[in-house]
Amino acid sequence: ISRKWRVAPTQIDLCDGVVIGEGQFSIMAGPCSIESERQIELVVEHLKANQVKIMRGGVFKPRSSPYAFRGMGLDGLKMFHELCNENGIKIITEVMQVSQIEDMLPYVDVFQVGARNSQNFNLLDALGEAQKPVLLKRGISGTLEELLQAAEYIFSNGNEKIILCERGIRSYENAYRNVLDLNAVPVLKAKTHLPVIVDPSHGIGLRDYVEDMSLAAVMAGADGVIYETHQKPEEAFSDGQQTVNFQESERLIKRMRLAYELR
Ligand code: PEP
Ligand code: MN
Repeated sequence: ISRKWRVAPTQIDLCDGVVIGEGQFSIMAGPCSIESERQIELVVEHLKANQVKIMRGGVFKPRSSPYAFRGMGLDGLKMFHELCNENGIKIITEVMQVSQIEDMLPYVDVFQVGARNSQNFNLLDALGEAQKPVLLKRGISGTLEELLQAAEYIFSNGNEKIILCERGIRSYENAYRNVLDLNAVPVLKAKTHLPVIVDPSHGIGLRDYVEDMSLAAVMAGADGVIYETHQKPEEAFSDGQQTVNFQESERLIKRMRLAYELR
């Protein structure tokens, strides 16, 4: 995945004119967790109104507590897929283990590997064999070298459709959830030909600052941003504290596009 091996930036074609990588600014938005049919409908409507082509939403959720909401599973994914498919929206959702890949495959446009699975080498090997794009998040305490080597697991198994994602790293600072390491963006872009995107929602973990950090990500050179939005963030089943409402989301989309034009 090194620039030394391939100079030309990798572009990932999700079909129907949706391309991720150099020359594009990709916006991926949606709830932390898929919660209901109604919720998906409302998010889809919001995304369509703002020409956003990729919806995020977890159906298998890695939660710190086993008693927290852990996602709607495959049935939720099928519903998610049906509603997005009929509206021309692509799906990104997290896969947590190897055994889920085959069942999820027909319903997913991009597999997300979460921070907690960033060095699950069996999962990375298996995704290398699946011919689907993979968004690989940086580990909670992962170095950039570890992220790059994790991506090599997927790449060396034959799947070159990889997107790297900076989502914040753990530090001693506790004024916010994580430290969004925007240094990673230009450094990764120099080291690899893969697209690099930023997740400001998990990166800072507080909804009031998601816009500022998203705009900073654009200016740092990110190929896109993935963030959490929900019709009523305070009622979200997970990560409501870092989730923006549709009004905030609309403003964010407009401002990111403007910033990208200026970059
Ligand atoms: C998520 O995207 O909701 C998520 C769990 O992200 P991360 O793996 O970065 O914590
Ligand atoms: Mn989340």
